[in-house]
Amino acid sequence: MDSLLRTHSSFEFLHAINRFAGNATTLSSSKSQIHETRFFPKKPHLKWGHGGCCVKASSSALLELVPEIKKELLDFELPLYDPSKGLVVDLVVVGGGPSGLAVAQQVSDAGLTVCSIDPSPQQIWPNNYGVWVDEFEAMDLLDCLDTTWSSAVVYINENSPKNLGRPYGRVNRKQLKSKMLKKCISNGVKFHQAKVIKVIHEELKSLLICNDGVTIQATLVLDATGFSRSLVQYDKPYNPGYQVAYGILAEVEEHPFDVDKMLFMDWRDSHLNNNPEIKERNSKIPTFLYAMPFSSNRIFLEETSLVARPGLKFEDIQERMVCRLKHLGIKVKSIEEDERCVIPMGGPLPVLPQRVLGIGGTAGMVHPSTGYMVARTLAAAPIVAKSIIHYLNSEKTVSGTDLSAGIWRDLWPIERRRQREFFCFGMDLLLKLDLEGTRRFFDAFFDLEPRYWHGFLSSRLFLPELMTFGLSLFGRASNTCRLDMMVNGTLPLGTMINNLVQDRE
Ligand SMILES: Cc1cc2nc3c(=O)[nH]c(=O)nc-3n(C[C@H](O)[C@H](O)[C@H](O)COP(=O)(O)OP(=O)(O)OC[C@H]3O[C@@H](n4cnc5c(N)ncnc54)[C@H](O)[C@@H]3O)c2cc1C
Repeated sequence: MDSLLRTHSSFEFLHAINRFAGNATTLSSSKSQIHETRFFPKKPHLKWGHGGCCVKASSSALLELVPEIKKELLDFELPLYDPSKGLVVDLVVVGGGPSGLAVAQQVSDAGLTVCSIDPSPQQIWPNNYGVWVDEFEAMDLLDCLDTTWSSAVVYINENSPKNLGRPYGRVNRKQLKSKMLKKCISNGVKFHQAKVIKVIHEELKSLLICNDGVTIQATLVLDATGFSRSLVQYDKPYNPGYQVAYGILAEVEEHPFDVDKMLFMDWRDSHLNNNPEIKERNSKIPTFLYAMPFSSNRIFLEETSLVARPGLKFEDIQERMVCRLKHLGIKVKSIEEDERCVIPMGGPLPVLPQRVLGIGGTAGMVHPSTGYMVARTLAAAPIVAKSIIHYLNSEKTVSGTDLSAGIWRDLWPIERRRQREFFCFGMDLLLKLDLEGTRRFFDAFFDLEPRYWHGFLSSRLFLPELMTFGLSLFGRASNTCRLDMMVNGTLPLGTMINNLVQDRE
């Protein structure tokens, strides 16, 4: 598995994971999302394993409820790029996910010519995105949340839950994408439905070669292809941790959760008491339940491995999920959609600077300790767009990599690189913690003053504050947790300090 990861990013990894999971999915265009048509027969009721123990058959029974995925398309007539005109556009955005469309919309707003290339530009994004409400409020995007919970809750263990008191929301992906597409269309963005397979750079422009034989010319190229990292270059070994999760949006007979609170993390493991083998696996590399209760009988449930290297297999995660649901008395009646999530976390940044620009998953922007990214990239999009507009409108005649260099600097200024280094340190520590260590860690983490844990999760703290955050966490932690941090964190701390010293302006 290790050599797989080294040789070619997450693509083969996903193939491998998918093979291990042993079900009939095919890879979607985004290498990190397996979200294509499935041909499981629909069954009215989930068959649970008999007796107390969870058998593998139970997870295949769960999978049998997964519907054939229908690709829902947005009803927009997209103005198409006309290759016959041989126009050189100011900016080509490769990838129409949240990151790419956000930049396309904002750059075109300044009157620059933009072309957006994506294999399915009208398809509603497949992922079920969750964000903290204050993050979307700060960007005036509250209208793009379809459900909000006044609070989130964390179960560290069987004792009473921790109430986080921070509102959480689910992104209305249809509304967010529609809003962005509408603005793009009214700003004159042209769309091309294809995959970019190659980029060729000339002195003043780049040629994007698409898989339908069309070539599109642009002064600047922005790679927003998510974790498939199609065009940006990396010069260091790619060694991320992986967040792997399996989620279902389900109709259930009932569930035990409060519909006013979303379940941010449930680290309880009593559902595995009758299955020592899975319990042992979980005690070494733990998974938690993340849940969004929409009503008393409709809920999104996701069993999640926060971070592991190599990532957990879906089969393992699904087995744990089935045991958990059974223990919680959740009987699944039907599944509206499922989600297979593989998020590479941490690892090196792309080569800085380089001719091709990047944003989102392709540009190392996922939070290395949490796997979250939507709010962070949507907040970074105006910075990138402003920088692109500034450099393209500049009187100075810079081109090629010199032109891109300033934009990369604005995306990844030294404070952000240092912040990311600290988050990677967090990830390295989490990678080493077993279930008990993870519980102790989050027990202290969520007892911190809200400005610390809010700021850490939402990438609002920079290095000096992160140091205070670290000291405060250490101060809050139990003695055993402090020992965990010293034993498991000393080497990652050394690596972080070394990287910080080497990275200069
Ligand atoms: C299942 C899942 C759930 C997630 N949930 C959350 C969450 O709850 N909260 C959160 O903050 N983050 C979440 N993330 C992490 C992250 O926010 C998402 O992955 C987000 O979609 C990344 O946005 P993006 O625009 O960078 O890339 P993507 O959304 O992956 O979009 C990339 C686009 O580029 C296209 N593309 C790829 N290659 C090419 C090519 N060669 N040519 C043209 N187009 C191409 C793809 O088809 C796709 O449309 C989740 C990730 C996954 C995988």
